[in-house]
Amino acid sequence: MFDNKEQFKKAFLSKLEMSVGKSFEETSPQDQYHVLGNMIREYISTNWIKTNQVYHSTEAKQVYYLSIEFLLGRIMGSNILNLGIGDVVEEGLRDLGISLDDLESNEPDSALGNGGLGRLAACFMDSLASLDLPGHGCGIRYKHGLFEQKIVNGVQVEYPELWLQNGQVWEVRKSDLSVEVPFWGKVESFEDEQGRLRFRHRDAEPIMAVPYDIPVVGYQTETVNTLRLWNAEPANVPFHDDIMRYKRETEMVSEFLYPDDAEDSGKILRLKQQYFLVRASLNSILNSFRKKQKDIRELPNYVSIHINDTHPVLAIPELMRILLDEEMLPWEEAWDITVQTISYTNHTTLSEALEKWPVRLFQPLLPRIYMIVEEINERFCKELWERYPGQWQRIEDMAIIAHDQVKMAHLALVGTHSTNGVAYLHTEILKKREMNNFYEIFPERFNNKTNGITHRRWLMKSNPALTGLITESIGDKWKVEPPLLKELEHYKDDAAFLEQLEKVKHENKVKLAERIFQQNQIKVNLDSIFDVQVKRLHAYKRQLLNVLHIMYLYNRMKEDPSFRPHPRTFIFGAKASPGYYYAKKIIKLINTVAEKVNNDKTTNDYLKVVFLENYRVSLAEEIFPAAEVSEQISTASKEASGTGNMKFMMNGALTIGTMDGANVEIFERVGKDNIFIFGMTSEEVMNYQANGGYHSSEYYMLDRRIHEAVNQLVNGFFPNTNGMFDVIYDSLLIENDQYFVLRDFDSYVKTQEKVSNAYQDKKGWNKSSVVNIANSGFFSSDRTITEYANDIWHVKPVNSPIIKA
Ligand SMILES: *Cc1c(COP(=O)(O)O)cnc(C)c1O
Repeated sequence: MFDNKEQFKKAFLSKLEMSVGKSFEETSPQDQYHVLGNMIREYISTNWIKTNQVYHSTEAKQVYYLSIEFLLGRIMGSNILNLGIGDVVEEGLRDLGISLDDLESNEPDSALGNGGLGRLAACFMDSLASLDLPGHGCGIRYKHGLFEQKIVNGVQVEYPELWLQNGQVWEVRKSDLSVEVPFWGKVESFEDEQGRLRFRHRDAEPIMAVPYDIPVVGYQTETVNTLRLWNAEPANVPFHDDIMRYKRETEMVSEFLYPDDAEDSGKILRLKQQYFLVRASLNSILNSFRKKQKDIRELPNYVSIHINDTHPVLAIPELMRILLDEEMLPWEEAWDITVQTISYTNHTTLSEALEKWPVRLFQPLLPRIYMIVEEINERFCKELWERYPGQWQRIEDMAIIAHDQVKMAHLALVGTHSTNGVAYLHTEILKKREMNNFYEIFPERFNNKTNGITHRRWLMKSNPALTGLITESIGDKWKVEPPLLKELEHYKDDAAFLEQLEKVKHENKVKLAERIFQQNQIKVNLDSIFDVQVKRLHAYKRQLLNVLHIMYLYNRMKEDPSFRPHPRTFIFGAKASPGYYYAKKIIKLINTVAEKVNNDKTTNDYLKVVFLENYRVSLAEEIFPAAEVSEQISTASKEASGTGNMKFMMNGALTIGTMDGANVEIFERVGKDNIFIFGMTSEEVMNYQANGGYHSSEYYMLDRRIHEAVNQLVNGFFPNTNGMFDVIYDSLLIENDQYFVLRDFDSYVKTQEKVSNAYQDKKGWNKSSVVNIANSGFFSSDRTITEYANDIWHVKPVNSPIIKA
């Protein structure tokens, strides 16, 4: 079907006519997308079946990656790349007058995630399959992924996302593998025939979890793994209750992806989603294991279950339930197996993001699971008591249940054999500060796994021009062994290479400029520095610092006609959680500043501000290749890792950033001359937080640049914004600027001046760009996944890769 162009064209045309019942000329791009998608899925299916057979028949240990989010983006392009059928498809379609890029753009993003955490899960899927590792994803098939963002009068407006509306070509429904998930009801104890104390869950309201499987194709290998997404449907049981209510409540479970930092609302629904994912996934995992006819005590030798953050932490009591109630193992044995089977990744130290559930909600919804969590807690507290007699406060701080709350992170730390942070600095902060209590007891469980990104999507697929240039220079082995990008360093003084690199960047800037014009009707200067901050909108990420710097540049240009810096285009993309009032005000502020500076003829040759709406994976793929400056300016200690920073680096942008998250490791690799570091260190931030001593008003009073810009938020400088930015003004001055924006302002301005100066020496800049690309191989998620596989999961490749010529 994809062996050569003529064969492909013939198959494509005949399937097109058969499946849509129109002549080729009458078919729409949507029709064409669907037909090509179906052809590719069929093509995949042989290897998918084979892979599954191999996994069933071998003794190879399997890993299951449980995640409440998978931010996949578009799937077709990645499959075409990994299958190595790009040339045939592209040329075949071209003969028919169809552009593959246009056709791919008909696919909606699979946006079953909020940001970094969900995107990490997606990159991991790609790496697992590409490394021939038997690893599968387990998630939820939300009907509506992350909301679609529109900007109306500068304000974020949310629309439901409709990725399933036109049908999904990549998924396969497997109703025969459905699983019942019980909620509510009560637990009864009884004595079985052998006189043992047993428990049963009575009067539960079950809902049906129906799996939809998506194939995950590895790069140039036969391995096709599975991402299993669970759909919530009414169970087929008689009901005396209000059937309409039941149906509605059931369908709600897989209706919406939750915004990550939502407030109180919908707590029960969120907890339902978590148990739904866990119960269905563990049931299906155990079914596969049982087919192997092994003793249940061997489970950790055959199965590894990983929980991505605490959202799937109920996997711990759920596995205990299976081992106790179904396998009838004694507690101690069940506990050993559980701890040995499950591992956990921590993604944040922000205390407001650490999950807690009120007992009053938890217990009635999940009565048997709650009993088990109570028992885990009691046994753990008893151990603590023996270790720390009399230290009530410490025990209370560490308890899994305290003050009528279940602390999910504590459950994860106690009930797994491995806790990893996502960058060196983050893991150190966990060990030394945030989770130091637990580190003292379980030092051997803590380890670091610095995040990564799949270089296939984020370089090979999204930046074909750069990929071509790299391959012309160093060959293509780097594609399967990204650290070989290091060889590019030989070219950092090669004038011809640097020129070509600049040309590639320029072409990518032209394309992004077209996108900007199309979406925002803003004409940007192609010789300006493309300075980009794209990521979720959050106070700790400090988009505000970027904005205040822009306001300062504008003010200074207005004041001093001789001050004209190198032209810059500041590009933003960010979604704010719908209930996050402050974040939405920052979006409005960015757009308000854009309106002002873009329309001021005295300055707008030097300064443009662009907010690209609806930031998502497919838009990100257009942005990174064109970026020159990567804004990674979080308050030090607050960003666990970041992965956007890695995508920029791999595409040759230079970072301006704080010593936070994985920026630290980027700095170590590129060296101080190829990155712009500014601001307080995490130590300094944490010392302020522990000891006080920061007074934002001093910076406001003493620095007239800050004074002016902050006043402009509230003094009518921006027309028709009366009171609109009070909350930002107050956060800086009344609430003492929790994220130290004003504290780092001067350092940021000075460092931005260094950026401008560095750009004057274009050759030097390009040289730094090469050093960044050359050292980005470490940040391939292939490296990250190899570390997880070796150190945590103990899984090995199953197929040997078949490298096609
Ligand atoms: C990579 C990525 C993120 C994470 O960005 P950070 O800068 O690490 O926060 C979020 N959203 C999308 C769409 C991404 O591709």
